[in-house]
Amino acid sequence: MRIGSYEVISLETGRFSLDGGAMFGVVPWVFWSKLIAPDERQRIALAARCWLIRGNGKNILVDDGNGTKWNDKLKDIYKLDYSSGDLLSSLKHAGLGPEDITDVILTHLHFDHAGGSTTLVNGELVPTFPKARYFVQKKHWELSEHPTEKDRGSFMRDDFVPLMNHGVLELVDGEGELFPGIELLVTNGHTQAQQLPKISDGKTTMLFCCDLLPTTAHLPWPYVMGYDVRPLVTLEEKRKILTRAYDEHWILFLEHDPIVAAITMKPTDKGFTVDQRVSL
Ligand SMILES: [Zn+2]
Repeated sequence: MRIGSYEVISLETGRFSLDGGAMFGVVPWVFWSKLIAPDERQRIALAARCWLIRGNGKNILVDDGNGTKWNDKLKDIYKLDYSSGDLLSSLKHAGLGPEDITDVILTHLHFDHAGGSTTLVNGELVPTFPKARYFVQKKHWELSEHPTEKDRGSFMRDDFVPLMNHGVLELVDGEGELFPGIELLVTNGHTQAQQLPKISDGKTTMLFCCDLLPTTAHLPWPYVMGYDVRPLVTLEEKRKILTRAYDEHWILFLEHDPIVAAITMKPTDKGFTVDQRVSL
């Protein structure tokens, strides 16, 4: 999809699965299992899509999926599946190699968003994209240094500490325009200082929803993930940002939805529902 001087491409990085109950918080199985069918271990299959933004002399990635540094036990737990390709094969399909990426915007450092940031080469962890600067919110970086018992399992230090050690990590302080036409919104419900890139040319606007709205099944207000550290804050952030998105006709990009990559919304008495599917 062309937005101003940029081309925005949806890249698949492989599929994975998470516990369905944890994905839907207080919502009972009888409701969520009708929206996304779980497997025999009550897990639901999820995408880990990224944006590739090309233009103005840049090739920008937004998030980089689970990566491939997984042992067999964790591969089994999270049902990692690269049969339809991984990040590097998707990039290759788009005509790019790792050295072509100029910037990586990490929405946050949970393993399913930042796992592709580093690669093991001859026993050493190095940035996967050797010429890129990586961007994360300063307050999120500070949390990653001291996660709580609740969210510790989502941070894998091998994904991001090597970025700091190699001097390629840039800490962003708050909301604002990062590149021309690419603005960052910050939320604090899912985790402290998650950043949501919004790309706009004044006519077309698309928001990278990351874990504010992981799938279309999370559109109803109380459908908030059990993973969130501040669920009531998520609820208010969802209400505020989705209402603005509807009022201003934004397209919503869904990183984890197993079926659909992008949508527009229409209102219902319980919030919003899908209006149109949008192909990038
Ligand atoms: Zn997350």
